Amino acid sequence: MIRKNKNHKAKKLRLAWLSYADLHNREGLLQLDQLFMEYCARQRTGVEQRLLAFQSSPDRLDQQRYSELIIEVSPHIERFLLQLFRLDTQVLSDKYQDGNLRLILKNKFVEVAYKKFFKPDLDMSFSSVHSWLASQVPLHESDVARFAISILNDQDDVAYKRLLLWCYYVSRDPTLFPEAKAWYAFWRPEKNIMEAVGVRSHGVDYCYVSDNEIENGRDNFDCVADYKSSEEVHTQNHYCLTCHDKQVDYCRSGFYQVKRDPDQGFRRDASDMLMSGCPLDEKISEMHWLKQRGFHVAALVAVMIDNPMCAVTGHRICYDCMRSCIYQNKSQ
Ligand code: SF4
Repeated sequence: MIRKNKNHKAKKLRLAWLSYADLHNREGLLQLDQLFMEYCARQRTGVEQRLLAFQSSPDRLDQQRYSELIIEVSPHIERFLLQLFRLDTQVLSDKYQDGNLRLILKNKFVEVAYKKFFKPDLDMSFSSVHSWLASQVPLHESDVARFAISILNDQDDVAYKRLLLWCYYVSRDPTLFPEAKAWYAFWRPEKNIMEAVGVRSHGVDYCYVSDNEIENGRDNFDCVADYKSSEEVHTQNHYCLTCHDKQVDYCRSGFYQVKRDPDQGFRRDASDMLMSGCPLDEKISEMHWLKQRGFHVAALVAVMIDNPMCAVTGHRICYDCMRSCIYQNKSQ
């Protein structure tokens, strides 16, 4: 049963071109396609020519050039759809921007401090550098992230070294500042444990169980990982190495016995399951690539090429893509 959203207020939604009724019949969709091609032509990048060439003989493109076309076209579809539905993604972008701040703290400070051979070039005790940091900014992740950015913008070398030293201490000994355990910047992938995601049955129902023992059942169509904060989603998005350009996006294609040689068949994982990749051939890597760059709707476009019913299938259809990811020894 689909629940009705009681908070929904009837709004008069108008499309920029055509009408909603046009979206429900073939003639209207052909008109929409024509409008999109005209839109692309106005961009003067030649993208509509490449799209037409692909449409006339789709098999001409190999996997790599197909990926490039998806990455090129999807942001145009995003911009076109935003104009069509008179939307803007500013709210989403702002939320994502906040995640980006934390990512800078993570990449420019925490990850540097985590490096095995990193040696701080400041001689300050933890308590001194901790007091200094607490005197600069409240010790909440988003505030420290903003502070980190101001240090980089101002090219403040002293503050840079101090914050790096603080990250170094905390990364080496989390008991010094236990709150950082919950910080996105300090998140580290763990060594993979077999069957990190399992299936548990409750009578006729079943649910997926994540590695932190949280059950994710299907509740009507709400199969979404709402136990993940936007920061965690952001982390996972950036954790993906977007392997499509190196043609090793095994999450999609499956993990071959011999690199780039499908004829040799797929490998098996530790539990003897075939690592055959996404059964729908979803463009997972391309989706992550687009999302990493803030093209939220374009990322959805990349998913919907192979899974137009993704609103129904939810965030995870099966376990096959995770099992085949190149991260075999780390959490996926
Ligand atoms: S194999 Fe893993 S890291 Fe590579 S694109 Fe797929 S999900 Fe990302």
